[in-house]
Amino acid sequence: MAILILGKSACALCGEVIVTEHELVATSHFISDPSHPLWRYSDAAMHCDCFQRWPHREEFVAEYNRIIGQIVWGNGSQHTMRADGTVTTAQA
Ligand SMILES: [Zn+2]
Repeated sequence: MAILILGKSACALCGEVIVTEHELVATSHFISDPSHPLWRYSDAAMHCDCFQRWPHREEFVAEYNRIIGQIVWGNGSQHTMRADGTVTTAQA
């Protein structure tokens, strides 16, 4: 999960300060290549509303699922992202 300081951290999409944890899309740092066009969003918090309107949303979700969605974690779970940015947990 991105490090989020309420009242200080800014939404990666609109740049406004995030004041509540509700309705956010936030991921861990899953894109390691800084030259990747979506790199700066891979360890960031975004308003859910901004995320829904984001032109790169589908690409971001696909990339998350390609990188993170394939991993089977130690407890046998897998995490995938829905089109709306919600991360789900399922047993592999
Ligand atoms: Zn925003």
